[in-house]
Amino acid sequence: MISEKLSKVIRDVPDFPKPGILFKDITPVLANPELSAEVSQTFFDYWSTKNVEGVVGIESRGFIYGLQLAQQLGVPFIPVRKAGKLPYQTIKHSYDLEYGSAEIEIHVDAITKGQRVLIHDDLLATGGTALAAAELIRKIGGEVIGYSFLVELSFLKGQERLKGSGEVHSLVTF
Ligand code: IMP
Repeated sequence: MISEKLSKVIRDVPDFPKPGILFKDITPVLANPELSAEVSQTFFDYWSTKNVEGVVGIESRGFIYGLQLAQQLGVPFIPVRKAGKLPYQTIKHSYDLEYGSAEIEIHVDAITKGQRVLIHDDLLATGGTALAAAELIRKIGGEVIGYSFLVELSFLKGQERLKGSGEVHSLVTF
């Protein structure tokens, strides 16, 4: 089972980026080419039947498997970035994080009206980041059909916040 393999290699880093936060470090997954290939395949198998027309990846760890998934599905990859990073005309959205707050943005022409996209990130915690990305996508006319994560921290209840706004798929839950 991929979830068991992932739970063995994902590393807990205490007090990062702030005291009291137990950070899930996915870099050991990236360092393992066989497991990493299995991760990509599992994402593809899940989403390949769902008529996905674009993959929105959230900076920065959402770019890693997000781009691969978009390429495997044969659809555009669309970056959502922290404010001030995208060069063309953007729209912005501010939101609260598990730790602190953040502002993200997307290019205004990144998605066509009615385009069916999924949102991909490395980890679902409170769901604030994914909901903010969904907000951006809807503002420019896209349709969010689901959310894809490598890791879900169920005790932070992100699934509940995302409920009703698309299906949620995670490879491992802690
Ligand atoms: P949320 O908005 O509370 O769901 O937090 C999710 C966002 O914070 C994602 O973009 C994650 O990359 C990042 N994040 C929060 N906690 C962790 C963690 O323990 N490991 C890796 N990323 C995390």
